[in-house]
Amino acid sequence: MEFTTNPILISINSSIKNLSMESAKAAVEGTTSVPSKEVKAFGTDAADARLDLLPIQRRTPTPHDVEIEILYCGVCHSDLHTARNEWHGTVYPCVPGHEIVGKIVSVGNHVTKFKVGDHAAVGCMVDSCRECEYCNDGLEQYCEKGNTGTYNSPDVHLGTQTYGGYSESIVVDESFVLHVPENLDLAATAPLLCAGITTYSPLRHWNVGPGKKVGVVGIGGLGHMAVKIAKAMGAEVIVFTTSTSKVEDAKRLGADDVVLSKDKAQMAKYKSKLHFVLDAVSAEHDINLYLNLLRVDGSLALVGAPEHPLPVAAFSLIPSRRNFAGSMIGGIAETQEMLEFCGKHNIVADIEMIKMDEINEAYERLLKGDVKYRFVIDMASLKN
Ligand code: NAP
Ligand code: ZN
Ligand code: ZN
Repeated sequence: MEFTTNPILISINSSIKNLSMESAKAAVEGTTSVPSKEVKAFGTDAADARLDLLPIQRRTPTPHDVEIEILYCGVCHSDLHTARNEWHGTVYPCVPGHEIVGKIVSVGNHVTKFKVGDHAAVGCMVDSCRECEYCNDGLEQYCEKGNTGTYNSPDVHLGTQTYGGYSESIVVDESFVLHVPENLDLAATAPLLCAGITTYSPLRHWNVGPGKKVGVVGIGGLGHMAVKIAKAMGAEVIVFTTSTSKVEDAKRLGADDVVLSKDKAQMAKYKSKLHFVLDAVSAEHDINLYLNLLRVDGSLALVGAPEHPLPVAAFSLIPSRRNFAGSMIGGIAETQEMLEFCGKHNIVADIEMIKMDEINEAYERLLKGDVKYRFVIDMASLKN
């Protein structure tokens, strides 16, 4: 399957309106003369190669850009899917990383939202067309022309691909940069930029709150954030996990009940009982088991993006007028709203800090579900 409609992976942003004709033409031809500098990054040249040190170019900030020294970067399962070309659209070299928190080190002369020394964050997008219906509605992730992903999208400035947060620094238009609440731990805030917003947005969209019974399937980086956020929104939260080691721990995260999904008797307890289910599983699994948990008119939103299609039985949907939907990250204003919400409720990710050169081992552990619950790279380790 080719994931051509997934702008996390391959957004084709043909917007060149912020560039001069000359630099736009150069970008298209891949021979840009835009001033830039070399920075250290970690990435890969092939689907089956290990990630390793890789120099990349970052453009000199234009008037609306900020330059961010990256302090921490979360490790999302999408990084792994992309690095290994599991969505069949990766352009190499690939530098993953879209859960970025850092410090502003320089600003263009038209920048108004940030000053040097501020903490700042970047999530899954660094640009969009900014003029289509969806961009105007704050739904830049669904931009008609495709948003510009933080990595693996065409970079209209430099004529290469965009390169993500496994790097020393990044240059981004301030419109796509977020403020970080001051009360939150910086490293544990990084995962909010993807895992946080990807779960907050559907929970909000499907009106999760008091009186609603919500299922969360797959307690990894996204799933554990969904539990914390849905609980803070006032819902009753039931976790569905394949990992016995997460049963007790999910209660610590805030779950009201935890179901070991391999146990048919435990699953039967919630048949047709839930208003909403958020599925954050990264691999093949039987989606029908979870559709059958929904009440009449209930909705299941898929945020997990496994490599292969998930077969849906008609009778998982028809008899209870159930809805099967998907959701992708969240818009820029909504991401800022999510950060404020997390600041107010003191919500951050549960993290395990790693060094940059431990990333290959971290990917293997991610595949085994062996992280509670998000790896975050201490980017100081890339400098030394
Ligand atoms: P993760 O930390 O690896 O968590 C995935 C979880 O899925 C695991 O912890 C495990 O939970 C469960 N799981 C894994 N393999 C399974 C299997 N074979 N059968 C059943 N359950 C399994 O991954 P993540 O970073 O949270 O990302 C989850 C998915 O969302 C990925 O596919 C990622 O690409 C996608 N994603 C989508 C968006 C979007 O915008 N829609 C944004 C970010 C990420 P248990 O141990 O609890 O069973
Ligand atoms: Zn992600
Ligand atoms: Zn647009």
